[in-house]
Amino acid sequence: MAKKLQFIDPHVHMTSRTTDDYEAMAAAGVVAVIEPSFWLGQPRTQVGSFQDYFSSLVGWEPFRASQFGIKHYCTIGLNSKEANNEPLAEQVMDLLPLYLHKEGVVAVGEIGYDDQTPAEDKYFRQQLELAKEFGMLVQVHTPHRDKKAGTIKSMEVCLEHGLDPSMVIIDHNNEETVQEVLDRGFIAAFTIYPKTKMGNERMVEVVRRFGSDNIIVDSSADWGVSDPLAVPKTASLMLTRGIPEIDVVKTCYQNALDAFGKSGKMKEEHWQNAKGIDQRQLFQDNSVLRGQEPKVESDKIV
Ligand SMILES: [Zn+2]
Repeated sequence: MAKKLQFIDPHVHMTSRTTDDYEAMAAAGVVAVIEPSFWLGQPRTQVGSFQDYFSSLVGWEPFRASQFGIKHYCTIGLNSKEANNEPLAEQVMDLLPLYLHKEGVVAVGEIGYDDQTPAEDKYFRQQLELAKEFGMLVQVHTPHRDKKAGTIKSMEVCLEHGLDPSMVIIDHNNEETVQEVLDRGFIAAFTIYPKTKMGNERMVEVVRRFGSDNIIVDSSADWGVSDPLAVPKTASLMLTRGIPEIDVVKTCYQNALDAFGKSGKMKEEHWQNAKGIDQRQLFQDNSVLRGQEPKVESDKIV
């Protein structure tokens, strides 16, 4: 390849990842990430845990990403799993408006259904109303069990609440759900997990079959078995398998930028005009270094 492709991973939980991951992602061409707020594997017991987590998504984590040359955005919401603890969910709902306006918060997310319980439904709908009130995009987590019905239900509820489908990114699609999502005018994101579910081999065929309009590739890498390089790896496999570069650029960069750019908070100039890494910087007196020599790039011209 003559020029190095750039990538956006619009769904990756960097809080759970290491600095090695940031370095590898930057080296592979990832220039920007979106970190959805989600569940941390163990249920939180008090609202303060949510507050500190949301604060880190708009504070420490964007700083940490910047130290490795990656622009970090996030989405803020009450995840479906923890929506089932209603007394706590009520308090988290009160917290959301304090964060949605913040710089770098590009959508309400990730929200939706897990087990499709009444409590999940209640807080999904309340958050859709919140998104409407704030004029924000929505990033929807679709259930891994009963996927097709859960995906259709998620879209129907969005429409019922009067959301514009082009402002809603439906994530965790597969071959069974993608056509319905595109037909209804929603944006279809695909999470590429290593060795299971939606692997990148299958993703190549999805793009071959359904094209590249309104289709987005992401990693959803988190604290579980997952791969923060899923986007660049899938892009590389697409090129090897003869998918035209323009379709690779759309699905692994441009469509995510176009979709989340509607927030007005995510702009290409953020990474194109970036000053370069300066690891002498501190965040509330903290650095990412442990006595290493700080890496400092002089103003880079891309
Ligand atoms: Zn996620």
